[in-house]
Amino acid sequence: MDQEDLWKSVLGQIEFEVSRANFATWFKHTSIHGIDDGIATIAVPNAFAKEWLEKKFHKNIIKSLRSTMPEIRNASYVVSSANAPLSAPIKKKPEPEEILEEQLEFKEFSVDRDTNLNPKYTFESFVIGTFNEFAHAAGVSITKTLGTLYNPFFVYGGVGLGKTHLLHAIGNKVKKDHPNFKVLYITSERFVNELVSVLQNREPIHNFKEKYRNVDLLIIDDIQFIAGKAKSEEEFFHTFNSLYENGKQIIFSSDKPPKSIQNLEERLRSRLEAGLTADISEPEYEARLAILKLKQGAKEPIVADEVLEYIALTIQKNIRELEGALNIVLAKSKLKGRPITLEEAKISLEQLTKTTKRIATPSQIINAVTQYYDLVDGGLFERSRRREIVKPRQIAMYLLREDFHGSYPFIGQKLGGRDHTTALHAYEKISGELKKDSKLVEEIKQIRGKMYES
Ligand code: ADP
Ligand code: MG
Repeated sequence: MDQEDLWKSVLGQIEFEVSRANFATWFKHTSIHGIDDGIATIAVPNAFAKEWLEKKFHKNIIKSLRSTMPEIRNASYVVSSANAPLSAPIKKKPEPEEILEEQLEFKEFSVDRDTNLNPKYTFESFVIGTFNEFAHAAGVSITKTLGTLYNPFFVYGGVGLGKTHLLHAIGNKVKKDHPNFKVLYITSERFVNELVSVLQNREPIHNFKEKYRNVDLLIIDDIQFIAGKAKSEEEFFHTFNSLYENGKQIIFSSDKPPKSIQNLEERLRSRLEAGLTADISEPEYEARLAILKLKQGAKEPIVADEVLEYIALTIQKNIRELEGALNIVLAKSKLKGRPITLEEAKISLEQLTKTTKRIATPSQIINAVTQYYDLVDGGLFERSRRREIVKPRQIAMYLLREDFHGSYPFIGQKLGGRDHTTALHAYEKISGELKKDSKLVEEIKQIRGKMYES
């Protein structure tokens, strides 16, 4: 295998491991410069990319290199102008302040050793909107009522919506208000791994138990990972009881509410549910824009408002991706040495905003629409012109086109033996209405929710 193929294979693996935004930003214009004595030298377009790959993605890179070519022991990075995109101006030597600023970004990795808390995630840097205001308010009150009122506190929501940030913010605030309190943050995955290693190495379990029981605030992130791991669940159950009985606060996050975590031991589930539960949903436009403005902060170069607005409009679901998009724009501006225009931003973000479409089967679509509009089974196939039927049928046709990619003749046929022009008309009608009718947007979102359930 030559170097080019090796690197292609590495990139192919990494693409699945890092966010799309990160991948597009940091791995573009990289290549293998050479392999010598087990050390692969990776050529990168600029010092900024070099620093990020070294600090943030080194492990991913090594792992993927080795999985393809086991004899590789390590990797180093060089800035090579041959890799730079042709349009990029020659970069001037960074000023000392710039270097400092770039390094500051790595604060996110300087986690406190005692608590595992990341100082970057605070309440001050947490934007509040209707999507998270309850979880936020609950989190703030926990810091004032530790162990007494809301115990445990359980926060859940989808990926990249701020659960981890909120958990750290609570921990940081408690630590700030009570420097002597013991606070410990851990993901449930790490809890499981630590336990496995204690058992494997036949270390005394006493130390492990002590570590988790001897705290004032225990924060467990992504508790759903513990489900189905019997030994860990048991150990954790006892840890929970011990803390709870001693009036110590426990906080959890999960990607779903306790009742939806599968394979979770019942007695543990009932503990998780026993206190206060809050969810974080998807941020609304205003909150997305506020987050972008906050993350932009004093960073140079300034990103134009219209670019921020464009990002907030197009990236709707995930705050991590929102940040990723901002980073792409910032990195692009940095390379160009000036703020980029809206048109340039659109091009840079093309890859990110092209949502990977999910595919639904016709029966998933038909069932979801039938259920959503409370129709009788087969109701969509009736040859009726009643409005209660016509609209759902048009929506089903629209979805058969968008989410199943059916041809118009197929769609017409499928929904009660109609002509392909009927299907085409329905598709165009719904597409048009979606542009101005936000209620319809919401309805279709909910129907898709049903379609892609489970
Ligand atoms: P989760 O744990 O839910 O997957 P994270 O807490 O890791 O999500 O959040 C992903 C990124 O989005 C983080 O960089 C975080 O700082 C940022 N973020 C999430 N929610 C907010 C918010 N309300 N205000 C500011 N930044 C946020
Ligand atoms: Mg998280």
